[in-house]
Amino acid sequence: MESRDLPSFKRIVVKIGSSSLIGKEGDLNISQIESLADQIAGVQREGVEVLLVSSGAIGLGIQRLGFAHRPKSIPEKQACASVGQGMLIKFYEKVFAKHDITVGQVLLTREDFSDRKRFLNARNTMSALLRMGVVPVINENDTVAVDEIRLGDNDNLAALVSVLVDADLLILLSDIDGLYTGDPRFSSSKLIAEVKEITAEIEKIATGSKSALGTGGMITKLQAARITMHSGITTVLAAAGEKEVIRRVLAGETLGTIFWPLSRLANRRRWIAYNSTVQGRIFVDDGAAAALLNKGKSLLPSGIQRVEGNFKIGHTVSVIEPGGREIARGIVNYSSEDIEIIKGTKTWERARTPGRKAYDEVIHRNNLVMNV
Ligand code: GLU
Repeated sequence: MESRDLPSFKRIVVKIGSSSLIGKEGDLNISQIESLADQIAGVQREGVEVLLVSSGAIGLGIQRLGFAHRPKSIPEKQACASVGQGMLIKFYEKVFAKHDITVGQVLLTREDFSDRKRFLNARNTMSALLRMGVVPVINENDTVAVDEIRLGDNDNLAALVSVLVDADLLILLSDIDGLYTGDPRFSSSKLIAEVKEITAEIEKIATGSKSALGTGGMITKLQAARITMHSGITTVLAAAGEKEVIRRVLAGETLGTIFWPLSRLANRRRWIAYNSTVQGRIFVDDGAAAALLNKGKSLLPSGIQRVEGNFKIGHTVSVIEPGGREIARGIVNYSSEDIEIIKGTKTWERARTPGRKAYDEVIHRNNLVMNV
């Protein structure tokens, strides 16, 4: 068995497409969902956090509402999504319960990623779910997402979710077992085992593939891989029906197509450090400065002495140590106004003040660049 040299992954996003979840008659492929839950439960027991992006809502709704074909009008598709999403989550709830795992439904729209405040909120919710051992089951909020704000396909959604939660691996499970050099139905087409760069040639291969139920095809998978590669996230495209596919991908078995990540977070850190405008300053005590500089910690309210400037959630600020030196820059989870209220407090104290508990970090480590 050939293998890949992979790091051990801590947080993964698994995306499964409609055509792998829904059978020929338009009904749910129960054994596929059961196998997915078995596999996710297995890797979760080994300490890997898993988020699931599942399609299938519109497809299930189509069947339940008795449409012979996929409806063309948007309100009808949205109606199908509304019906099918409920059915979908009910199944997930049931199959994961067998493993004593709770699932949480998360429905997102494009704006949840483009608006920094909503992005941070969604991220905090996901972290809370993962901390509690819940498997988030994510889909686009098709019922409300009108065309202008639709992502439209779950490959792109899964890539954005991977960035949102700082996942280190995205597995795209599909009815095809990888990227081929040509039409996979021809024996002359060969599986491409790894992609280091999405070249024009690769893009050309992808055009034209489309499945009947889902909206995806190879084009959206490549779009997704482009996002993850540039965000330092490894991506593997593999067949949903492959036995124990998730565990085997994690173990580094040469399955499907791997898209190797480009330099991790370099761009984002550069953006925080140099491209974003510094809107204010946070003065911290010696303890907080040492925790940031030497221990790789996030900035918590307890070590903050005062703030300067008027800034909002999502703005970039400088962090200043007692001697007056700037030790870091980062993106804040709280406005200057709110930091005035919570500075110097401990988590348990805030827990007793209604509306002030929110999240612990004023600047999360992932949004902090040291010694700019
Ligand atoms: N959100 C759609 C659904 O649940 C699927 C989109 C896609 O197929 O990528 O039906």
